[in-house]
Parts: sequence; C-alpha cells; structure tokens
Amino acid sequence: MSDFGKNPPPYSQPGYTPAQTYQPPPTTETVIIQTTSPAFVPVSNEPTRITCPSCHAQVLTKVEHQANSRTHCWALILCLVFCWPCVCVPYCMDSCQNANHYCPNCNAFIGTYTN
Ligand SMILES: [Zn+2]
Repeated sequence: MSDFGKNPPPYSQPGYTPAQTYQPPPTTETVIIQTTSPAFVPVSNEPTRITCPSCHAQVLTKVEHQANSRTHCWALILCLVFCWPCVCVPYCMDSCQNANHYCPNCNAFIGTYTN
C-alpha cells in the first residue's frame, strides 16, 4: 500500500530575521536637585546674631558645646603627659569643643563651629 515512511523535509526556518531596530532604553534620568540651603557656618563659638534659616527670625544663636574627637584626644594626651585630673580640662574648655549653634526661637540646628 502507500508507504508513508518518507522522511518529512527537514524543517527549515525561513530566512526571516526580524529586523530588530535597536532602541535605547528610555533614559529616565532622575535629576536629584539637592536643595542645599546655604549652610550657615558659624564663625565663632560665641552666640552669633544671624537670620535663622528655619524661622527666618533675627536671633542670637544658642550655643551648646559638645566634646569632639579632638577633645577626647586632648584628654588622653593630658592624662598621659601630666596626670589624670587633667582629663577634665579639655571638657571644661570651650575652645577644645565643637560649638553647636541652635536657634533659640525654633530650636533648629544652625551650624557647628569647630576650632
Ligand atoms: Zn529659628
């Protein structure tokens, strides 16, 4: 009878290559505008008259002294060179510490003066 054992023609792909027009991905550049408010840089460790960037009032800054790494460094040096009661000296000296300026009106942090 009819012999159906003939091999089917090998499946050949048509020479069709989809034209891939390269489209660059849409560049979604997220431009981050950093609103860096003009940072007030305190010029001394004394209360300074400024315009508060937060409440825009003319204020005399409130200064809080904070021990920084230099303070600890001095304390260690004084402790080693002299004697241990000297440790407290740098912590008592404002000039050895950071001066953080705050607004007395709105309590906003304004800036740090480092010696
Ligand atoms: Zn303020």
